[in-house]
Amino acid sequence: MATDFHAHRPKSAARTLVSCVEEELSRYPLASLELHPWKLPERFEPLSPAFREALNDAAALGEIGLDRLRGPTLTVQQNYLEELLGLAAERHKPVVIHCVRATEELLGMLKHFPELRVLFHGFRGKPERLARLRERGLRVSLGRAALNDAALVEHLRSSGLDGIGFETDEAPEPIEIVLENAAEKLRLPPAELEARTDETFREFCFPA
Ligand SMILES: [Zn+2]
Repeated sequence: MATDFHAHRPKSAARTLVSCVEEELSRYPLASLELHPWKLPERFEPLSPAFREALNDAAALGEIGLDRLRGPTLTVQQNYLEELLGLAAERHKPVVIHCVRATEELLGMLKHFPELRVLFHGFRGKPERLARLRERGLRVSLGRAALNDAALVEHLRSSGLDGIGFETDEAPEPIEIVLENAAEKLRLPPAELEARTDETFREFCFPA
């Protein structure tokens, strides 16, 4: 079965980690409790007991993260992220990260949580940045557009698919189409790509 590593609603019968708010958690078999950096208040306030409690019913925490271009000041976002990462570590939940132009800040904060399983979602950019994230033990999920970058495709062909997943996020097409397209670009049999990414997801969400 194909895996959609990050979406806001299911788009097919594929296994889908759906990022949603507290009230929606029970709707999905695999739900991730979201506190998007765009939606954070202007001032930091500790997480509510209800939010902390809700995490028990979720498979993961996120998307959470840092965005230099939107949301409150980066300091406020970092205060929230610190608290959220601590909560995830305490509950042994994997986290889904949204990160825009704040990779160094993110990696600096993750140093304090070496045991956390982390998925960097919606990666776009240079192979060097992808390599850096994987070296630091992060899983990385890619949308369809990421593979329009020939250098990134070349990098994945030579370095392999360890820690790599695919996602639909806000795009309407189902993950099966994204995987088909990726398999073609990576010159892999579609079934092999599906099996590899399924296994990566299993290790991320349900480690033995
Ligand atoms: Zn998203």
